[in-house]
Amino acid sequence: MTDEFSINFPTSETLGFLGADWIEQHCSVPDGYDKGTPFVPSDWQLQIIANHYRVKRSAKWVPERPVLAPAFTYRRSQVVAPQKTGKGPLAAAVTCFEAVGPCIFGGWAEGGEVYDCREHGCGCGFEYEFEPGDAMGMPRKTSLIQLVATSEEQVDNVYRPLQAMVRGGPLDEIMKTGEQFVRLPENGKIEAVTSSAMSRLGNPINFANFDESGIYTVQNKMVRVSQTMRRGLAGMGGRSIEWTNPWDPSENSAAQQTYESKSADIYRFYRKPPADWSYKNKVERHKIHKYVYQGSPWVDLAAIEAEAAELMETDPAQAERFYGNRIVHGLGAWLKDGLWDGAYAGNVVAAKP
Ligand SMILES: [Zn+2]
Repeated sequence: MTDEFSINFPTSETLGFLGADWIEQHCSVPDGYDKGTPFVPSDWQLQIIANHYRVKRSAKWVPERPVLAPAFTYRRSQVVAPQKTGKGPLAAAVTCFEAVGPCIFGGWAEGGEVYDCREHGCGCGFEYEFEPGDAMGMPRKTSLIQLVATSEEQVDNVYRPLQAMVRGGPLDEIMKTGEQFVRLPENGKIEAVTSSAMSRLGNPINFANFDESGIYTVQNKMVRVSQTMRRGLAGMGGRSIEWTNPWDPSENSAAQQTYESKSADIYRFYRKPPADWSYKNKVERHKIHKYVYQGSPWVDLAAIEAEAAELMETDPAQAERFYGNRIVHGLGAWLKDGLWDGAYAGNVVAAKP
């Protein structure tokens, strides 16, 4: 593994390691060969969790009224990654953590403090001991969570893995997963919001998961939906994560707006392949796939190449966005090859300066 996945801040300043351990204990792999085994976040997934749950060193502990979003370095996060790399299962695991896990800042440890599941209604036996100086996590009393997508079908990208990873595990006792929504303790809830079910729009919420924000446009009203939901989050000290493939830059999607925003409190995870590798060239395309799917050993690169090669025949721009993890204009040739990459400095992860 390259050091691109390393975490460049003190590991005491995040709830991410607690989060990753909690997820491994409570969530299972929802599908594929490893189905049913503990969900162990891979390096790139851990990087996202560690950053999203990074706590400001200046965060103050107020026992009567815990500090919510302002305790964290990032108000929200954006994950740009290729098709089939495991965005949905990670989003589902993070949603479980937000639902009933120790996801809010609970003060700084003096050492010896323990997060014990038994104190929070879970009999699984999980314990996590904090080191002196660690940011500690605690669960919220009630969690109101919305899963956002353009259609019911798309909600299933996250909802199906969520049902599968809860079933049969310790969370089965705590999270009541129905076909339409998940009932959480203390009148909490995980529900879907789609462009056809906007009635839930604007409700106060603690966490939102935006799936495929690269296809939220003004035309399909989803840009407005995501803006309204972020206002609902702000009122509650809530936070959110967007997950998307690279977008078509002619559409000014919600994902594009997030990526281009000057806000410094957005964590952006986006591993662009080196700009001088051509997606049209079969050998270089393979190198690109190896690069962008690094750290996702469950992905079969031969199957990705087969899908990509077929899509190249009819819609090369989409193939390059989906599997090459590059921002490419819908009409392909409209922007001169490489011009767009040149417009965005910095190849690796990380926020723009
Ligand atoms: Zn537990």
